[in-house]
Amino acid sequence: MPRRPENPGTCAYCGEIITKRGVRKHMQICPKRQEALASAVASNRPLETLWHLRVQDACDKDFWLDLEMVGSASLEKLDRYLRAIWLECCGHLSKFTIGGWSGMDVGKARKADSVFDPGLVLRHLYDFGTTSETDIKVIDFRQGQATSKYPVALLARNQMPEAVCQECGKPATWICIECLYEEDKTGHLCDEHVEVHPHDNYGEPAPLYNSPRTGMCGYEGPAEPPY
Ligand SMILES: [Zn+2]
Ligand SMILES: [Zn+2]
Ligand SMILES: [Zn+2]
Ligand SMILES: [Zn+2]
Repeated sequence: MPRRPENPGTCAYCGEIITKRGVRKHMQICPKRQEALASAVASNRPLETLWHLRVQDACDKDFWLDLEMVGSASLEKLDRYLRAIWLECCGHLSKFTIGGWSGMDVGKARKADSVFDPGLVLRHLYDFGTTSETDIKVIDFRQGQATSKYPVALLARNQMPEAVCQECGKPATWICIECLYEEDKTGHLCDEHVEVHPHDNYGEPAPLYNSPRTGMCGYEGPAEPPY
């Protein structure tokens, strides 16, 4: 089976379209990122370890984020960031583990510095019923100053995955959960076909968001970074 091309992303600094594989290299040459680093050096923020994280939905690799997290921040801050940009629907429980459900829990009070090492993969579980599983891989680190006052900085993010209407093949902006769960279809619908779609057993079709939580537990976005 031919592999689907990897879903590219955009640089959070300059907006350029970049591949997942190219993020690290782009960060080294992106003029806007270089500006942010220069003003970080001129700031009075402390010198510390900054961790480059690759965040990816465990099932759907189209959804990914590259983040930079300050070493003195707790995993609680990362949990809050993931909830804000991707996951939050109704305040479910969440946890970090190494090894998933059957693995070892890693407490949210732990500081990034006491947990992270290059190559480490944490799994984040949100909602222990309809669970969203997210992998967080430590891909790099630097010694320096944070580029903002916040514990987490967004470096890059996947573009909205392309979705086509299951009825007509035009670009889709809606999803029908009933089609997805009960008819083994994508459930993707265009603006035209959503108007005449008959299903409402799982509620009306919902908008597609740039979040792997779309279609789960009545997720309603907004899938925007909190800062
Ligand atoms: Zn850039
Ligand atoms: Zn929920
Ligand atoms: Zn259509
Ligand atoms: Zn349907």
